[in-house]
Amino acid sequence: MADRLTGKVALITGGTSGIGAATAELFVAEGAQVAIAGRSEEKGQALADALGDKAIYLKCDVTQEADIAATVAAANDAFGRLDILFNNAGGPVGAPIDKLSQDHIDYGVKLLLSSAILGTRYAIEPMKASGGGVIINNSSVAALRYRQGDILYSSLKAGVTHFTKMAGIELAPHNIRVNCISPGAIATPIFYGGSGRANTLTDEENAQKMEKLKSNLAKAVPLKQTGLASDIAEAALYLSSDAGRFVNCHDLVVDAGRTSMFYEPND
Ligand code: NAP
Repeated sequence: MADRLTGKVALITGGTSGIGAATAELFVAEGAQVAIAGRSEEKGQALADALGDKAIYLKCDVTQEADIAATVAAANDAFGRLDILFNNAGGPVGAPIDKLSQDHIDYGVKLLLSSAILGTRYAIEPMKASGGGVIINNSSVAALRYRQGDILYSSLKAGVTHFTKMAGIELAPHNIRVNCISPGAIATPIFYGGSGRANTLTDEENAQKMEKLKSNLAKAVPLKQTGLASDIAEAALYLSSDAGRFVNCHDLVVDAGRTSMFYEPND
């Protein structure tokens, strides 16, 4: 199949890397027009160029409300409608609990939680004008279990998951479905890109780190396979397409069984 999103317009935050980039590639392959948003101009423009005239890059820092509002408007203006928003941008935010500061918390809230809330808020009017839409928030298994991320990251992702369920109810009258995905450990630069900074590694450096990461992550799940960005892109495609038309307020866990495992405290 290659036309499950034909005629649809999608905005993907954090589309310059990892899960967001893989989703942009899959959505374009399935016929969508896609706006790729992120801070890394070089990576975002290169991906948009590679995907052809169905993709554009929009510079956006999701910790800034004005950037979010402008990016949603720009995607809508560029393609004439907005059907899908993937609030995907994110990264590490925290520290051990005894090292956390107000600055960590303010930054974490803006990057992980406000970005999803404000993205949703600014997408409402364009989606209503488009006859409805689909919003997907990228949460995490860290929202569900201990030690899948630091305590601040985990707490904020739990907020993302709960916000998803509340927003799905409030926006249902406008034919807007809101769901989230909770990925398990997925091999992306999030594990070596630095704490919230734009990833400045070269392609070669990224590739070397990725190979090592892939072999390590496979050991952590019952299936003994590595979670790939494309696994989450497929979940986003299901939720965005007509196949997911009856799915709302849902947390789609894609983790190869990781959250069902029991961990001893010293594992
Ligand atoms: P990644 O490869 O590091 O990608 C993170 C993306 O977020 C990049 O495109 C980055 O773009 C963007 N980003 C970060 N800060 C931003 C900001 N202030 N404004 C705009 N964009 C920003 O990591 P990933 O694994 O694909 O992560 C995507 C999402 O999945 C995140 O929300 C993460 O929490 C979630 N997640 C990941 C995993 C995993 O194991 N990989 C598991 C659970 C959940 P720029 O650098 O260009 O700004």
